[in-house]
Amino acid sequence: MSIKIYNTLSRKKEEFIPREKGKVSMYVCGPTVYNYIHIGNARCYVAFDVVYRYLKYRDYNVTYVRNLTDVDDKIINRANEEGLSTKEIAEKYVKAFHEDMNGLKNEPPQIEPRATEHIKEMIDAIKCLLEKGFAYEVDGDVFFEVQKFKGYGKLSGRAIDEMRAGERVNVDTRKHSPMDFALWKAAKPGEPSWNSPWGEGRPGWHIECSVMSSKYLGASFDIHGGGQDLIFPHHENEIAQAEACTGKEPFVKYWLHNGFVNIKEEKMAKSLGNVILVREILKKYDPNVLRMFFISTHYRSPINYSEENLEAVASALERLKTAVYNINYLAKSSIVGRDEESKVKQFEKTIVDVKGNFFEAMDDDFNTASALGVIFEFVKEMNLFLEESQKNLSVRAKDLLLEARDKLIELISVLGIELGAKKTADEFPDSILKIAEKILNHTFNDKNEALSALIEGRERARKEKDWVTADIIRNELNAQCFELKDTPQGCQVIFKGR
Ligand code: AMP
Ligand code: ZN
Repeated sequence: MSIKIYNTLSRKKEEFIPREKGKVSMYVCGPTVYNYIHIGNARCYVAFDVVYRYLKYRDYNVTYVRNLTDVDDKIINRANEEGLSTKEIAEKYVKAFHEDMNGLKNEPPQIEPRATEHIKEMIDAIKCLLEKGFAYEVDGDVFFEVQKFKGYGKLSGRAIDEMRAGERVNVDTRKHSPMDFALWKAAKPGEPSWNSPWGEGRPGWHIECSVMSSKYLGASFDIHGGGQDLIFPHHENEIAQAEACTGKEPFVKYWLHNGFVNIKEEKMAKSLGNVILVREILKKYDPNVLRMFFISTHYRSPINYSEENLEAVASALERLKTAVYNINYLAKSSIVGRDEESKVKQFEKTIVDVKGNFFEAMDDDFNTASALGVIFEFVKEMNLFLEESQKNLSVRAKDLLLEARDKLIELISVLGIELGAKKTADEFPDSILKIAEKILNHTFNDKNEALSALIEGRERARKEKDWVTADIIRNELNAQCFELKDTPQGCQVIFKGR
């Protein structure tokens, strides 16, 4: 079965056939590093992280490049505002970006090129465009002449006449056409600049991406991604520059664009001042919650951000964690019964089928929303089988439940969601030792032992109807972020601390 991808270029779903068998080259536009990223930006990086993980899971050898735009008007303005140099601003926000990517549990791309480290290649590309007649120089600025490139508008589906209708009045009169865009900008006093055949200056944003992507992935590569707002003009211009210079078509085989995160019916955007920063929301929510919030919707559809929506996702995620926890707990129980053949057979089939169903969902243009549907359906079956088995646990049932748990953990981790990462005793607060000593009158060195002794102490107290002691233990443990659940099989403990 093959993967199908919606290609913005053809405006339809196409069978995914990478240029080289078994290999995928993929470029995603990275941030302009002038402030902290918000949830809208995060959606883009998570969406393509999932594409990256899934392609690897389907055994492709993927080269993933995501750039850093570290020279730009916005960086220059920010440097003036913060009283720092542009270099210092870029460094500060590159560091912050990496912290946020780690916080979101995104895998790092293999290559993360910075614009300022590729100026020579950009100058070479601009020279090529000038030589071939696609560009012209005016007073140290170089512009791309849109009319000269026949395919202009093919990605965004805009006709040149339509674009002209939207022209603004105060356009640069030195340009041959208002649609022409800057490849090289002459330096203004105090701005970062590099020497070039056209004098001191710096590259335009669009040339950065076409040059850095082709340098690492070749003149033609498989996947290029970004948010929908980048289709025009950024990606349209990237195609024009790259194809005009190399004469090779297509520059990119599959163009993928994620939908927006909206808040109160409006796009979340720095310019609108309605942003929620990734670093702020991660103080409140587990990164798995934020990831699951993003992937609950197909990457091309818009998402509405609200805390209620995040809360709903958080409780759905809790259901998955509880299923894993319950099976881990059951695994410690002793075998008491025999199989019910038909139920076991049915559950075996459920386990066999789940991967195929997951693939089918993800192969359909990375439909993570359907894939999650498959996972939740699977967990429902797991819980039913678990409930049956609790009364009459057989060796086979226990093995199947463990197999199902591992399948669940494996599949959801393809979406970058961690269920398996169980808290270890090392992460327990040290205070657990003191609490156990105080209540049980016994010294402990091992935090796990202290916790087990407290749980046993509480069970004992409950049997003896010593409700005061039982409550003290529960309250003390709750205060240390341990949640206690009483089940027919005894007390289950979930450590919720970070
Ligand atoms: P920017 O910093 O504005 O260049 O954005 C970085 C990336 O985030 C680009 O791929 C944008 O298309 C994407 N992006 C920006 N705002 C949103 C939003 N509200 N929802 C989804 N993606 C966004
Ligand atoms: Zn770009």
